Amino acid sequence: LTEKLQNVFKNLRSKGRLTEADVKEALKEIKRALLAADVNFKVVKEFIKNVQERAIGQDVMNGLNPGQMVIKIVNEELVKLMGSETTEIKLQPGSAITVIMMAGLQGAGKTTTTAKLAGKYKLKGKKPLLVACDVYRPAAIKQLQVNGEKQGVEVFAMGENHKPADIAKAAIEHAKKNGNTPVILDTAGRLHIDEDMMAELQEIKETVEVHQTILVIDAMTGQDAVNVAKDFNDKIGIDGVIVTKLDGDTRGGAALSVKAVTGKPILYAGMGEKLSDLEQFYPDRMASRILGMGDVLTLIEKAESQIDEEKAKEMSKKLKKAQFDFEDYLESMKQMKNMGGLSSIMSMLPGLGGMGMGKMKGLDDEQTAQAEKNMARMEAIIYSMTVEERRNPDVLNPSRKHRIARGAGVDISEVNRMVKQFGEMKKMMKMMGKGGKRGKFRMPF
Ligand code: GDP
Ligand code: MG
Repeated sequence: LTEKLQNVFKNLRSKGRLTEADVKEALKEIKRALLAADVNFKVVKEFIKNVQERAIGQDVMNGLNPGQMVIKIVNEELVKLMGSETTEIKLQPGSAITVIMMAGLQGAGKTTTTAKLAGKYKLKGKKPLLVACDVYRPAAIKQLQVNGEKQGVEVFAMGENHKPADIAKAAIEHAKKNGNTPVILDTAGRLHIDEDMMAELQEIKETVEVHQTILVIDAMTGQDAVNVAKDFNDKIGIDGVIVTKLDGDTRGGAALSVKAVTGKPILYAGMGEKLSDLEQFYPDRMASRILGMGDVLTLIEKAESQIDEEKAKEMSKKLKKAQFDFEDYLESMKQMKNMGGLSSIMSMLPGLGGMGMGKMKGLDDEQTAQAEKNMARMEAIIYSMTVEERRNPDVLNPSRKHRIARGAGVDISEVNRMVKQFGEMKKMMKMMGKGGKRGKFRMPF
């Protein structure tokens, strides 16, 4: 009997928390997936080790099995590793010239990406200058000129008989006179990492002030991407990475490898040969692509939204009973922020004219900003309350209100107003819960 009990207990436990066995089993599968996506094996090893440490002992979320829970954690860590949000190329302030140098192996996509970037800057009302610093092939200069023309941006070239560093210098002089910025240097690559190439890039950096060095890397580089990125970063120093040819069927493990080994942000993704095919890099999309477990990730999302739904149901029950307190209010604010804030929620609302919501949607930007500001002040006030006060606003006497006002940095009249509005809201909800008539009632923000 004891043995049986023990077994039951074990099963229970392994359902509630991730055991070492659960984690190891799932990670075996994930390791295989990452290697198949051409993530560098050293990066995979390090990554798996970290995830293992984080995952063991974690609670398994409702609706998921332990394996799926591990995948959820892996996905989160992948996103974190690739940078949690999108990053832009940092430009110099005001009208100061930003010099951007493109670097990378031959065929990586430097010349194409240079022209793609120029198009983006032009759309933003800037006047970029493209500079032909690849002097080894006449075709390279021509290629940049053709692409520049397509984009309607100026190309600076001096032929093949000058040093790239001197061309860069002359180009910047030209840009100063003509008000061009950014100045984007299209440099020459080599088929493999090569001392001459590095020396040439170093010379450019020593001759002119380069503000941003961007490594362009082909997504199909595979395992070797790590060495390429490390070499460029060690020898010339890079500020960011653009991964090209992600329109192909590669899973894009190179992106992860490069980020892991250089720590530099991935800025854009090249998605085709056309000059408009340059997209912002989204770490979360890349993570699921590399992991290649779309189905499981969808399932995880569903489980997550179910939990939110449960919370929402609980909240609406409370609302009906008018048991809604300030703690609940904070919680609902949090959920709203998770959904992207008031303005994004309103933009998602379909035309609800006639239901009173149309009016809400009709708020202009300024009104929305004001509403969001009011909500932030309200939050500040609630945060200055003790838990007891949040759960039971009836205890709020003048001296407590004074303390709260001081804590939140607002006038006591504002605290009074909010507490009063909150009380009215509760009364209102009680009426609605009893099926009373719908009166006029405003949320206190
Ligand atoms: P560079 O030697 O680094 O200057 O490389 P290029 O810009 O000349 O590009 C080499 C080849 O890759 C060209 O045929 C480009 O059209 C192609 N290419 C560049 N970026 C992309 C991309 O994002 N997707 C695809 N499919 N092809 C690309
Ligand atoms: Mg080129």
